[in-house]
Amino acid sequence: MSDHRPHTDPDGLRSMPMPVSRDILSGDLMIPASAVTTLLRAIAAGWTACPCDRSDCHRTAARYAASLTAYADQLDIGCIAAAGQAADPAG
Ligand SMILES: [Zn+2]
Repeated sequence: MSDHRPHTDPDGLRSMPMPVSRDILSGDLMIPASAVTTLLRAIAAGWTACPCDRSDCHRTAARYAASLTAYADQLDIGCIAAAGQAADPAG
């Protein structure tokens, strides 16, 4: 019998701060990008292996973790670029 559940602790994820604010002009709800990247990396950290101990499951879990980490990295890169443009009036 195989157990293919991820290792991510749902209680740990629930305890992560997710500060929500509202944009004054648009009224859109917003959360800081850093909260999203922290969440993605926490989920990825739980997908480093599968408890069933099958090598194909380990590879699949590793691919999911790599994808989540890549999304977090892309978000960081986008935020760094946007922060640079905001700091440089000529940019
Ligand atoms: Zn598995």
